Amino acid sequence: MSIYLDNAATTAVCPEAAQAALDAMTVQYANPGSPHAMGRAAAALVERGRAQVAAALDCRPEELFFTSCGTEGDNWALRRGAEYNARHGKHILSSRVEHPAVLRTLEELEARQGFALTLLKPEKDGSVSPEAVLEALREDTCLVSLMCVNNETGAVTDIAAIARAVRARCPHALIHTDAVQAFLHVPLSARSLGADLITLSGHKVHAPKGIGALYIRKGLNLPALLTGGGQEGGRRSGTPAVELIAAFGAAAEAGARSFAEDSTRMAALRAHMAGRLEAENPGLLLLGGGAPQLLSLSLPGWRSEVLMNFLEARDICVARSSACKRGGRSQVLSAMGLPGEVIDGVLRVSLSRYTTREEADAFCDAIREARGRIRASLSVQNRK
Ligand code: PLP
Repeated sequence: MSIYLDNAATTAVCPEAAQAALDAMTVQYANPGSPHAMGRAAAALVERGRAQVAAALDCRPEELFFTSCGTEGDNWALRRGAEYNARHGKHILSSRVEHPAVLRTLEELEARQGFALTLLKPEKDGSVSPEAVLEALREDTCLVSLMCVNNETGAVTDIAAIARAVRARCPHALIHTDAVQAFLHVPLSARSLGADLITLSGHKVHAPKGIGALYIRKGLNLPALLTGGGQEGGRRSGTPAVELIAAFGAAAEAGARSFAEDSTRMAALRAHMAGRLEAENPGLLLLGGGAPQLLSLSLPGWRSEVLMNFLEARDICVARSSACKRGGRSQVLSAMGLPGEVIDGVLRVSLSRYTTREEADAFCDAIREARGRIRASLSVQNRK
């Protein structure tokens, strides 16, 4: 069995979600828009899923709209949020450490629709400070988009503090946060966060791939991105993916139930790994940090690919930095001002509630072994 330490890329579907999806696919499989008994049963499953995810996010069910993924949620929030609020100005404030779903979308808004974009540089730890946001805020800022937890480093940005500061200075600006890596990993309440728009994705929290949600604050009439049959109260057309929604709901309910226990256990496991790795590997750097599920480390002078190949041969799955980008140096790590040598040696280890201490130790053992073996073979080569 592989040792899977790449949960920031995606997670195993939990039994509760798998069962809910199976039931929806084989029993309540009707179209939830159909006006017959089976259609109404499917519609009830959608509303149950909505209530479950809403409870986990601490918002009203009517503030939550299902999407196909986190990428769609980000696109919807940013494209329609910017257009909707352009009457207040065309300046958008975001950061250089955002996910490509945000960055590429904002770049397009800048290039094609004439929005002015300010991308903040993060602090050393990869987070964005409220002070930096306040400094860059302008009278014509219509949209602020900053992620809660960074997917490459686990750095946590204090969105609640930023939202309070933005509201005080620039009350008309819409506040969006990509909470894909934060939901059910760090405490997150839509009610107390103060954001207008929050993006979620199911497959990072033990639901299947292909389902997400966008929280839209009550009273905000964000126009639809997908138009058509008028599903989701006219806000998001497309036949609802009942089985995926049921699974997302079940996963969110299960995740919320064990949240306190899981996050404490993951934080302890992360601390254990960090302690071992630092003690056993002189020169090893830990980057970012904050979120309990994510550990980003670098062995300067060692290329990530070499370590990844070594780990792969031992059936251990980790990531270089992010699964959403192919080739090239990570823009997130570059934006943090890290030297190339450090970036080239980065590994991202991400845990889930299913990660065991034995698996964590197997990773630490493998890194220690890699250093010994690879150094030995390199020095042999040097002597030849
Ligand atoms: N935002 C962040 C922070 C992510 O980590 C990801 C996925 O890696 C996404 C957005 C995109 O989510 P999805 O894969 O559901 O489109």
